[in-house]
Amino acid sequence: MYDLIILGAGPAGLSAAVYAIRKRLDFLVISQDLGGRTNTLVTLPEVEDYTIIKAREQVGVYRSRLHYRSELLRTEKITKLQALGEPGAVKATVFQVNTRRSDGMEQRYETRTVLIATGTKTVSLDVPGLKQFWGRGLGTNIQSYNHAFWEKDVFLYGDSTRVLWAALDLSDFAAGVHLAIPTDGSYDLDVLDQLREHENIFLYEDAKLLEFQGNEFCRTVEIQTPQGIVSIHAAGFFLEFDPEPALDFIDPQLGLARDDDDRIVVDRFMESSVSGLFAAGDVCTMGRYQVLTALGQGAGAALSIYQWLRRPTIID
Ligand SMILES: Cc1cc2nc3c(=O)[nH]c(=O)nc-3n(C[C@H](O)[C@H](O)[C@H](O)COP(=O)(O)OP(=O)(O)OC[C@H]3O[C@@H](n4cnc5c(N)ncnc54)[C@H](O)[C@@H]3O)c2cc1C
Repeated sequence: MYDLIILGAGPAGLSAAVYAIRKRLDFLVISQDLGGRTNTLVTLPEVEDYTIIKAREQVGVYRSRLHYRSELLRTEKITKLQALGEPGAVKATVFQVNTRRSDGMEQRYETRTVLIATGTKTVSLDVPGLKQFWGRGLGTNIQSYNHAFWEKDVFLYGDSTRVLWAALDLSDFAAGVHLAIPTDGSYDLDVLDQLREHENIFLYEDAKLLEFQGNEFCRTVEIQTPQGIVSIHAAGFFLEFDPEPALDFIDPQLGLARDDDDRIVVDRFMESSVSGLFAAGDVCTMGRYQVLTALGQGAGAALSIYQWLRRPTIID
């Protein structure tokens, strides 16, 4: 049985792995890839390269450590996480992780503690040009790129209050914020009213995405509005949806506490409501959808887990 299994190898899982190596824990990392979201870079046509701190560079050193210690990594799909053992026997619980390898073989691992760092699910929309331009002038997570839009035009699309806040943040320095929202979204009406007072926010309500267009980069989007088809030219195009945590593998019987956005509730030690089960990065309530915060949370979680494992065992 392992001391620890880390689920996910994005920034949170990678930094946790480096700290687990330092603490000489007997552990494994299980993930479908190495690097997680940092493998997706958004390059912007009108933005100087040096103004962007690339996410992949931020995790580079952690990534290479795990790459070098490849015996600690299993590139498998996590299909189930459950607790074995007596309910109520606080420290006696054993966790079981089920996975599927790429050749279809099912695997099973047992561990005393688990760190869940599986991030969020990818949102996919069926819009012409989306796949073609994804990562080239078109992407998501505008908060990582806000500063790059000083006196430039930017296009935002989303179906919740998250995209409204993103537009308000951008209006402080972008020349024009073109915000398209669909009819079937759910928006805080006070924030919507606030938006209408900003002269540089152009709001398109009841909008539908028709097509992203460009050459090397995305340069234009066509949207359908009640007034007709509108073509919007901008320096960047961002789709901002409420991120949904990637937690389909959790056994409901674990009774893991989640917040309204389905994220794992953690305390300041990154421990969840289930003893021995920790979470870090975008999947938990501390998540800030940034590489640096995920790296810090992963490292902090690994240190907490080390302390947890050293506590004297309490069996009922
Ligand atoms: C397009 C884009 C651009 C971004 N740009 C920046 C930026 O410039 N700067 C910045 O600070 N932040 C940026 N972010 C945000 C940042 O990348 C994330 O906040 C960060 O990667 C979260 O780290 P994480 O470890 O919590 O999760 P993730 O990076 O999402 O990693 C999760 C890991 O879990 C694995 N996983 C999930 N489910 C399973 C499963 N069932 N089985 C096996 N493995 C699984 C995934 O394969 C992945 O390896 C960007 C995000 C996106 C989407």
